[in-house]
Amino acid sequence: MKTTSSRTLRILWSLFLMLAIVGIQDTEAQRRKKKKKKGKTEMAAKPKPKPKKPKKSIATLTKKSKKMDGLFTIYQDTVTGAVKMLITKDQLDKDYIYFSQIADGVTEAGSFRGAYRGSNVFHIKKYFNKIDFYAPNTSFYFDDGNAISKAAKANISDARVASTKVLFADEKKGEYLIDATGLFLSETLTRVKPPRFPGRSPFAFSLGRFDKNKSKIEAIKNYPENTNIKTEYVYSNPSVLNGGSNAVTDGRNVSIKVFHTFMNMPDDGYETRMDDPRVGYFLTQTNDMTSTGTVNYRDLVHRWRLVKKNPNAAMSEPVTPITWWIENTTPVEWRETIKEGVLAWNEAFEKAGFNNAVVVKIQPDDAEWDAGDVRYNVLRWTSSPNPPFGGYGPSFVNPRTGEILGADIMLEYVHFTNRVFADRLYTDAAAYMHLETEEELEIQKLKNKNNQGHMYCSMGHLMHENNMFGTAVLEATGASDLEMETLKKEGMKSLIMHEVGHTLGLNHNMKASQIYTPAQLADANFIKGKALTGSVMDYAGINVTNDRTKQGQYYDMAVGPYDIWAIQFGYQPFKSKGEMTALLNQSTKPELIFGNDADDMRSPGKAIDPRVMTGDLSGDQITYSINRFKLVNDMLKNVKTRFAKKDGTYVDLVRAYYSLNGQAARAGDVISRFIGGVYVDRAMVGQTGGTMPYTPVSLVDQKRAFNALKKYVFAPNAFSAPKEVYNYLAWQRRGYNFFGGPEDPKIHRQVLGYQARVLAHIMHPNTLQRLGDSELYGNKYRLSTFMTDLNNAMFKPDVYGSINSFRQNLQITYVKRLVNMVTGRTARRFSPASQSMALLNLKNIKTWVSNGTGNTATRAHKNHIKTLITNVMKEIK
Ligand SMILES: [Zn+2]
Repeated sequence: MKTTSSRTLRILWSLFLMLAIVGIQDTEAQRRKKKKKKGKTEMAAKPKPKPKKPKKSIATLTKKSKKMDGLFTIYQDTVTGAVKMLITKDQLDKDYIYFSQIADGVTEAGSFRGAYRGSNVFHIKKYFNKIDFYAPNTSFYFDDGNAISKAAKANISDARVASTKVLFADEKKGEYLIDATGLFLSETLTRVKPPRFPGRSPFAFSLGRFDKNKSKIEAIKNYPENTNIKTEYVYSNPSVLNGGSNAVTDGRNVSIKVFHTFMNMPDDGYETRMDDPRVGYFLTQTNDMTSTGTVNYRDLVHRWRLVKKNPNAAMSEPVTPITWWIENTTPVEWRETIKEGVLAWNEAFEKAGFNNAVVVKIQPDDAEWDAGDVRYNVLRWTSSPNPPFGGYGPSFVNPRTGEILGADIMLEYVHFTNRVFADRLYTDAAAYMHLETEEELEIQKLKNKNNQGHMYCSMGHLMHENNMFGTAVLEATGASDLEMETLKKEGMKSLIMHEVGHTLGLNHNMKASQIYTPAQLADANFIKGKALTGSVMDYAGINVTNDRTKQGQYYDMAVGPYDIWAIQFGYQPFKSKGEMTALLNQSTKPELIFGNDADDMRSPGKAIDPRVMTGDLSGDQITYSINRFKLVNDMLKNVKTRFAKKDGTYVDLVRAYYSLNGQAARAGDVISRFIGGVYVDRAMVGQTGGTMPYTPVSLVDQKRAFNALKKYVFAPNAFSAPKEVYNYLAWQRRGYNFFGGPEDPKIHRQVLGYQARVLAHIMHPNTLQRLGDSELYGNKYRLSTFMTDLNNAMFKPDVYGSINSFRQNLQITYVKRLVNMVTGRTARRFSPASQSMALLNLKNIKTWVSNGTGNTATRAHKNHIKTLITNVMKEIK
C-alpha cells in the first residue's frame, strides 16, 4: 500500500515539474515575440508614403470575376467560383418568375432527372442596405374597382424568401451588387430534401445534411429573357444507416443537381381562360375575394399562347407554334413513332382553327443547348436504374395567368423492354390487410397537398404492364415478330399522345374508356386507325381479343373525340361567350364523358363511379373483365411449354406467369368497383342530355359484378394455375441474389394478395357507408343483402367438406376483417348498420364451422376461425 502511494506521489511531482518547465518556456517565447513586434513598430514609425486603398466600387469588387450579361448580370469569381449578382433599380418591385427543376437526382430521395419543382412569382425589394427576394401570394383575386381591394393583403402571408446585404450600392447608376452564392448554394429558393413524415421507417434511405462546402455552382447560362444557374447540392451524413441503391455511389455523400431559372414576365396580350368542371385542364386555382357569388372560383386553365397569324381566317397557322424537340439521346428506331404521336394532336387543333399548331424537330447531335434549357420543349429519354415513372409530361406556367411557358416529356427506356421489376409484379396481401388509421389518413392528406401541382403520371407503368401482358399472349399463341413490333409501336404512339396531352394542359380522363362495346373492340375493321377510348388521357386496358383471329388494334391510334373537344375549349378563339357555352353544352354526348384522377377508383375505397377506373376497357367493363379472366386461364394452360426456352433460364416463364395473373387481378379490381357504385354526371342544371348528379348502379349490374367476383376471385378454384407450373417459377440466379430471402415461389401470398385487394374495396368503410346511404336514393342492392351474399360466397361452397389452402387463407382474412369492423382500431369508421351485419355474419360462420367435417387441416382451420369469433364475442359481451 505504502509503496504504491509514494510512487503515485513521485509521478505527480514529475508531472508538475514538466508543466512548470513548459510554462516557463511559454512565457519566454511570448516575451521574445513582444520584443520583436516592438522593434517592428519602431521601424514603421519612420515616414513612408501610405499605400492608397482602392476606392470600393462594383468594378473593384468584381475585378477578379467573369462578367455574364443577361436578364440579371452575374459575376463569377475566377478563383473561388463564388457568384455575385447585379440588381438594377428598374428591376426592383416588379414581377419575375422563378422556376426550378431537377437536372439529376436519386429516385429514392424523391428527385429525378427532369422533375419540375413548380414556378412562382417573385419580386426584388430594397430595404435599407439589403436586397430581399420576396414571393407574393398569387392565390387571390381582388377587383380594383371594389373598395375592399384596399384590404387585399389582410391575413395573407407572402413569403420573404431571402435577404442579402448589398455589397456596394452605386446610387448614381442605380446598381446594387449582392453576394448570390448563398442564394443558390442552399435550399432557399427550392426545397429538395423531402420532409420527414411521421411513421416513416427509420431504416428508410434519407438525405444527410446540406453540405455548403461540397455543394457548388456548376454552370451559368445567361440570356436576355432568363438567367439560368445549374447547381450541385451535396448532402452529407458521415454515418449513414441505409446507403441507398446501387445508383448511389456512397450514401455518405449524395449529389442532386438543380436548375434554377429566373425569367421575365411574358408580354401582355395573353388571353386567360377560366375553367369549366366538364373539361379536364390543369389549373391555377384562385379565389375572387370581391365576388358575392356562392362559389368564387376564378380558376385559370393551363394552355399555350396560341394566336392565329391571320385572325380573321377560319383556319390559320399560329404566330408561334408549339415546338417539340426529340432529344438526341432517343433510340433512332423510335423517333418516327414518337413524331407521329406528337403530330397526332394537330387533328384536334385543326378543329380549333389552327394549322400546324404542333411542330416536331430533332435535336442535332452537336447541339449547343442542353435539354434542361427552359427555352426548349424536349421529349427526353433516360434509362435509369430505378425508374420513377414510365412517362412524365410536366409543364410550368405563369402563376398570374396560367399561360404554359415550357414543358418536357420524360420517357424511361426500360418500359419498352421485357425487363420486369420483381417487386412490382404482384402486390402483397399484407398491403391490404389493414385499414388506415386516422393518423395515416392525415399523413396521406399532407402528402397529397405537398404533391399538388406536380403531375406524376403512371401511364408508363400501366403501359409496361399492358405490353408485358400483350407480349405474353402473343408469344403464347405463336405470333410473328412483326406482330410483336406492331404491339410495341402502338403502345409507344399511344403513350406519347398521352404525355403530349398533359403538356397541352390536359389532365387525365379516366372515364373515357367507356365509348365502345366489347363487340366493337373485337371488330378489327371498325376500330382501325381510331382511338379505342374517348380520350388518350385515360389509363385504359390493352385491347386483346379472346378469339385471336379477331385481333385488331391494341391501343389508341389517334386522339379521341373528347381530346378534340377539350382542345377546342382550351384553344379556339371564341367570338362570344355564347359560342363557348354551346361547345361546353355538348359535354353530355356519350363520347365526351369525363372524370379525372380525383374521381377514379384505382385505390380501394376511393371515389364512387365505377366507370372512372384505370386498367379497364369498353362500356361493359364487367363482360370485358370476365373475358380477361377467361383468356388468362386459357393462356396459363400452355404457359410452361411456350415460355420455357431450351438452353435458357426460366425467367421468361416467371415473367409470363405473373403478367397473366396480374391482368386477371386487375380485372377483379375493375369488377369490384360496381358494388356500392354511384354514377356521377357533371352536367349543369337543365343541360340537354344531363341526368341527376348521382345515380346508383342498378341492382342487375351490382349482382352481375358480385357473381363474377364469386366465380373468378373467391371460388375454391379461382387463380389456380396448372400445378406443374409452380416447379418452374424460378428467377435467374446472380451471385448471392437470394441472400435477402428464400427464393421459392410464394403462391399462397400472391393469390391472397389479389383477393385481399378486392375485399379491401368491397368491405371498405366508404363502400359500406355508401351502400347504406344510397338505399335512400335509388340503390336496390341493400347493405344487408350484399353482406349476406358475401358471407355465403366465403363459406357455403366448401364449409361442409374439406377446404383447400387458398380458401383457408381467404376465409381467415375475411373473418379478421369482420372482427376488425366490430372491435378493431378502425371500428369507429364503420356505421352501426354494417357492424350489426358483421356480428350476424360472425355468428353464422361460427355455426357453420362447428360442423366438425373435413380433413385434419380443415378441422384445424375451422377451429382457428371458431376461436377468433369466440374471442371477439367475449370482448363485446
Ligand atoms: Zn398521365
